[in-house]
Amino acid sequence: MGRYNVYVSSGAVNKALEETARAVNELNERKGLHLGLEISSVHVDEVRDHINEYKEQFDEQGLDVGSIHAPMWNNLSSEDQTLVDKGLRETHEAIDLANELGARTVIVHPGYEFCDPEWEEAFGITDRGRLDIAYRSVCEVASYAAEKGVIVAFENLNFIGSTDMERLLALVERDRSTNPDLSYARMTLDLGHFNIRGRNVESLIERYGEEIVHTHLHYNDGDTDAHAPLGPETSHGAVKDYRSAIEELGRLPDTTHTLEIHLKGSYDECAEELERSVDYLNDAGYF
Ligand SMILES: [Zn+2]
Repeated sequence: MGRYNVYVSSGAVNKALEETARAVNELNERKGLHLGLEISSVHVDEVRDHINEYKEQFDEQGLDVGSIHAPMWNNLSSEDQTLVDKGLRETHEAIDLANELGARTVIVHPGYEFCDPEWEEAFGITDRGRLDIAYRSVCEVASYAAEKGVIVAFENLNFIGSTDMERLLALVERDRSTNPDLSYARMTLDLGHFNIRGRNVESLIERYGEEIVHTHLHYNDGDTDAHAPLGPETSHGAVKDYRSAIEELGRLPDTTHTLEIHLKGSYDECAEELERSVDYLNDAGYF
């Protein structure tokens, strides 16, 4: 018990950092665990603006910050350079914050290129220009991350037209030998998003397992991105058996994991629900 490889999103309990930090701290003490925190994108500004207070608070609670979720509505794949610049600036700020808090990983949404394979087929779209834009952004972010010693893990999204992580990773792998900064550019596998948009999680792990340095774990029924707690054993989406996918991800070496669940209700109800998801990971061999 106590391995430091599972974090809880700071937005887990009623989207409130204070309540989440308290619940994680109580769980750690009661169960002898060492769960860390992922600073949710909605809390990045707040934590940065009050960095010393938060450092002190996390210290007192014995909470390590393992990862930071960069602001999420940016589009690093946009044809509009001003939007790309804004996204790069905010991503670099999140990297600075990770560096200051000693977090290993920054999670980044690569954006939207609107050439999802299903759309390409349906509408005869062949222009893949935006993948190149996304890739240029990845290279820029990676070189900043390398300077700061932080890993940037680009996340698969659930929206139609989201930048395709497999094609992006193929470019990263192609150029890594000539651009060592790209070893700082890796992947976050969001299992819930994959369940909505994915093809086959086992083949993704087989092909890109070494690139997956971080996961976002949450549950949905294959339709809406519910960010529900872990629990049901099967799903209707691309992940045919959630439990075995979670077990497989838990076996990846050197991969960290965030419970990216959204809980609502009284503090006690949410804390109990959080504990059930942690127990689920414990049963799946995570600790
Ligand atoms: Zn996610």
